[in-house]
Amino acid sequence: DGVTYMEVRRPCRVMILVNPHSGRGQALQLFTGHVQGMLTEATVPYTLVTTEHQNHARELVRKADLSQWDALVIMSGDGLLFEVINGLMEREDWQDAIQTPLGILPGGSGNALAASVHHYSQSPPAWNEELLLSCGFMLCKGLVGSLDLVSIHLASRQRLFSFLSLAWGFVADVDIESEKYRHVGAIRFLMGTLVRLASLRVYQGKLAYLPVEEPPRPPKGSVKTSQPPSTPQHPSLCSSLPCQLIPDPSPNQNSPHNRITTNCNHNTVTNSSNNPVTATKRPETQGGGKSMTLVDSLLPGLDQPVPESWTVVKEEDFVLVLAVYQSHLAEDLWTVPGAMADDGLIHLFYVTAGISRPALLRLFLAMEKGAHLACGCPYLVHEKVKALRLEPISPQGVITVDGEMVEYGPVQAQIHPGLARLICG
Ligand code: ADP
Ligand code: MG
Repeated sequence: DGVTYMEVRRPCRVMILVNPHSGRGQALQLFTGHVQGMLTEATVPYTLVTTEHQNHARELVRKADLSQWDALVIMSGDGLLFEVINGLMEREDWQDAIQTPLGILPGGSGNALAASVHHYSQSPPAWNEELLLSCGFMLCKGLVGSLDLVSIHLASRQRLFSFLSLAWGFVADVDIESEKYRHVGAIRFLMGTLVRLASLRVYQGKLAYLPVEEPPRPPKGSVKTSQPPSTPQHPSLCSSLPCQLIPDPSPNQNSPHNRITTNCNHNTVTNSSNNPVTATKRPETQGGGKSMTLVDSLLPGLDQPVPESWTVVKEEDFVLVLAVYQSHLAEDLWTVPGAMADDGLIHLFYVTAGISRPALLRLFLAMEKGAHLACGCPYLVHEKVKALRLEPISPQGVITVDGEMVEYGPVQAQIHPGLARLICG
């Protein structure tokens, strides 16, 4: 039928890390039941690694010989990917290590990144096994895009890297309190929300941020020139992925890397040489030699005042403060309608004290359809920022990063656009 196929140059090696305790404790069964066959069919060679304890994956990727792997894929919730990203960033060769394509297969109870990646692929919403199949299919396709990371400084001078969220107040409390309902799966967040609503409280603290300068809007009545949508950069996972199912509008059959073979049975296949990997802009680093550190150029010391260019929020009584950099916070929480994995933005939300319980519940229910910002709720504020600082005044509380509890206290964060790479759509 005129379809051409690419020859396999070398197998693409994928390490799949599975947390057997994530979600309902069924990640391994979900993998064998839904993903394994798909990978075999697409002839994607992989090695399955089952984590034995918390931080096992973090230690493993910190020491791994990454030249052996073309991608690291997480079959768990967001917590295991958080481990992997931080393990990569703790390496001497972090600049190269963090370029390893990362993939996500939803196997946890909190599958925010999987839901986001699925959403970025412009597919209609999917849950549970359907979401897993979608992410498995993306892994077989092997397209890779950029992923923003946010560096987070804690009072103890520890620095973490985050791909999803920083939360304090209501959302952080629900996240941690609902872990005991992990066995019910993704619905744990709704259960946690209802329980927390009953004991709604106010959290005192100071919030400041560096806003993104928005381009000036055209004056009313001016003619808007329509621009074609920008084509996302999608180099493929590795030039050698055996059967990429990427329709290629203009296959260059004479390319030296694109010898044609007919030994695989998919519809259309292209070679990544038609889709070259763009040189990623190197992050700002400091210090010569091998081990350079990533500089957070927007952040003063946590003991220094925030710069003049920052906005200081005048309210100090909050119900929640939430910084998100993906579209979804959970499978059914479409928190940032316009977000992309590499838009270079931290979406800062806060809800000030005074909101009623029903109004707060309405916001979370509306979030399933991404409609919470259209609720006209005067207590909800959304800002696009590049950096932020939160200084809790309430003596006790919970702060989470990517759904994982971190040290409570002052915290600040800044975005690093496109620092990592993500298998997506
Ligand atoms: P879930 O979405 O169900 O919370 P996560 O992937 O977030 O799933 O994992 C939950 C927690 O379990 C994370 O803190 C992660 O670091 C930790 N973890 C990873 N592997 C293991 C393991 N083998 N045993 C116990 N905890 C683990
Ligand atoms: Mg989790």
